[in-house]
Amino acid sequence: MIVMKPTATPQEVQTVLDRVRSVGARAHVINGDELTVIGAIGDREHVARLELEGTPGVDRVVPILKPYKLASNQIKHGQRSVLDIGGRKVGGPHFAIIAGPCTVESREQTLQTARIVRDAGGAGGAGGMLFRGGAYKPRTSPYAFQGLGQEGLRLLAEAKAQTGLPIVTEVMDARDLEPVLEVADVIQIGARNMQNYSLLSEIGRSGCPALLKRGLSSTLEELLMAAEYILKEGNEAVMLCERGIRTFETAYRFTLDLMAVPVLKQMTHLPVIVDPSHAAGRRDLVMPMSLAAAAAGADGIIVEVHPRPDEAICDAAQQLPADEFADFVERVQAAAAVGGKSLLQDPTMTGALR
Ligand code: PEP
Ligand code: MN
Repeated sequence: MIVMKPTATPQEVQTVLDRVRSVGARAHVINGDELTVIGAIGDREHVARLELEGTPGVDRVVPILKPYKLASNQIKHGQRSVLDIGGRKVGGPHFAIIAGPCTVESREQTLQTARIVRDAGGAGGAGGMLFRGGAYKPRTSPYAFQGLGQEGLRLLAEAKAQTGLPIVTEVMDARDLEPVLEVADVIQIGARNMQNYSLLSEIGRSGCPALLKRGLSSTLEELLMAAEYILKEGNEAVMLCERGIRTFETAYRFTLDLMAVPVLKQMTHLPVIVDPSHAAGRRDLVMPMSLAAAAAGADGIIVEVHPRPDEAICDAAQQLPADEFADFVERVQAAAAVGGKSLLQDPTMTGALR
């Protein structure tokens, strides 16, 4: 990590970048509020031989000892990353709610849910709401419904056109990336693909914001190393998602590891989202765990909502009924305030939310 002096000129920054790249290392510029930092990733010896300390504009050169580099808090000097997703902010003081059905099933189901999600976010798009829905579904059984694929993407595009909500949708296979990029504002990487490194690199190269779910049995360090695969391609728009991990407990589907929220914030500058729906596998646990996540300081939640949950093709037991969603949002908002965050994207719009 090369920390530039506050007085460093753009030319001095460029000279350092050129020198780092001249030895075959990658160089990433991280522009902070006060300081510019250059992350140099490559052979440590080669970079050291450049003797950058003493170069005009350079304040100091600091090795990052953690195995994850661009994801580490150190590189941003404790400053939080705030992502801009189609005008919705994720991270920092903002609280985002990503809501929608598990999977896109029909035009009516998708558009109806999208309108309900939009309306729960208040007038004028004041709330940090995003719409989720799977067109490509990672199913445990190869015989289960696998998603509508391209037709699902078309319906998501229609939901976006009608509501203005940014779209969060999963890619399982890099071969589907091109059509998904046409509609997705955020690409979801499912828990089962967290360590699909070629997919992570491909999504990194696409530059599309990514929501990276924690693997079923992955440590936080492994999650950050997976994020690093996306970041190292120059894609800085990564949010992490705790969605429950495997433990010995069988009373619920997964164990939601809420300690991951404050601990990840000590490790990384990236926003941390919590998915209570897939952790619980039961709708009665979604409200208490959403409130707990918000109060613990999560940057947002991702929850499943369906107009008629009992008829849902997948994850019927955990989807929230759409007609209860507005009340759900109101309670989560109060908990987010406890956690120091607001669903309002623009403080001047206070009152725009119900
Ligand atoms: C999902 O969000 O639709 C999903 C399948 O989640 P996960 O990858 O966390 O199981
Ligand atoms: Mn689901």
